[in-house]
Amino acid sequence: MDNSVISLIEKLAKSHSLELFEYRELIEKRTPESAELLAEYAVKARREIYGNSVFTRGLIEIGNYCKNDCLYCGIRRSNAACERYRLSEEEILSCADEGYSLGFRTFVLQGGEDAFFSDEVMCGIIRKIKAAHPDCAVTLSLGERSFESYKALREAGADRYLLRHETASKAHYERLHPPEMSFENRMKCLEELRSLGYRVGCGFMVGSPFQTARELAEDLKFIERFKPDMCGIGPFIPHRDTPFRGEPPGTLELTCFLLSIIRLIYPPILLPATTALGTIADNGRELGILAGANVVMPNLSPVSVRKKYELYDNKVCTGEESAQCRGCLEARMKSIGYEIVTDIGDIRFPSPQAGKNRQEKQIGGTIKSRID
Ligand code: SAH
Repeated sequence: MDNSVISLIEKLAKSHSLELFEYRELIEKRTPESAELLAEYAVKARREIYGNSVFTRGLIEIGNYCKNDCLYCGIRRSNAACERYRLSEEEILSCADEGYSLGFRTFVLQGGEDAFFSDEVMCGIIRKIKAAHPDCAVTLSLGERSFESYKALREAGADRYLLRHETASKAHYERLHPPEMSFENRMKCLEELRSLGYRVGCGFMVGSPFQTARELAEDLKFIERFKPDMCGIGPFIPHRDTPFRGEPPGTLELTCFLLSIIRLIYPPILLPATTALGTIADNGRELGILAGANVVMPNLSPVSVRKKYELYDNKVCTGEESAQCRGCLEARMKSIGYEIVTDIGDIRFPSPQAGKNRQEKQIGGTIKSRID
């Protein structure tokens, strides 16, 4: 291995930061050996904070109607072949009840941008989940909404929000999205979510069309600056009914390499080994954990709708019942020496002070007693 690469890895492990051109070099010059060294440091950093625990979140895909037309996404509005559905409030609540009995203590409600799920409808659902399961966190992943909407959802009890930034390069963002969507608004939403006291997750696809080591280096600098509580990364996988149908997918190898880098940039970060990673390789999620991830998000959606929430081709885990998904992931984690825990799974800040400052910014204050 090149000496300069070893010193970059050591610098990153020690100072949690590299220059833009250094990230680029680390990515461009990567080898199996440098990936191994990086993963070793990443696993060590994670182990100091989380031991061998893997947090889990129950994902409930509440609907696939979407007003947006992201060029990569299988549920984009222009995809006439996509069979649309919405879960009813009762169905969502019963998914959460089932998840609770399986040991989930965080529910992620994800869906397309759909006016049907208005603030009124969502606030009602959030309040009911929190009333039924006061020891659980509710995470939302419903795309871009107004500040007032984020505020109302937060006041109704939502604790966390996942909104992948998709790419930290404005020019790249514009090649992945239609003209009516804007990079500035995506970033503004992330800032607003944070100002409202949500735990915030950003993230990006690995190997999305037009992405090079330069764009990835920008994503890494953004993560350094923003310090998200969570970061969702997974390989881009083409969907047959989108303009990117013929593009090559992202790789397992580069995704794992980036998971290790992100762990070292911000050791306490919550980093899922995503379903997309499990889709490009059978043992993708295990390898993601071994590279530095510490979260898995099995599907709790009713089996009848799973195939319809198809963001990309051949998505895994669309045929199994929730209990099977949970059992399968538990066995997979055990096979590599990790343990899925029944825990709300909040980020563990490095010093009590850092956590305290963030708590003070939260509205309502309800999160404190449950999460810390
Ligand atoms: N509407 C919500 C949820 C989007 S789906 C929102 O805007 O946040 C969640 C994530 O799936 C997206 O943020 C995107 O990064 C990812 N995704 C979409 N299409 C994909 C594809 N073809 N391959 C891999 N990931 C994809």
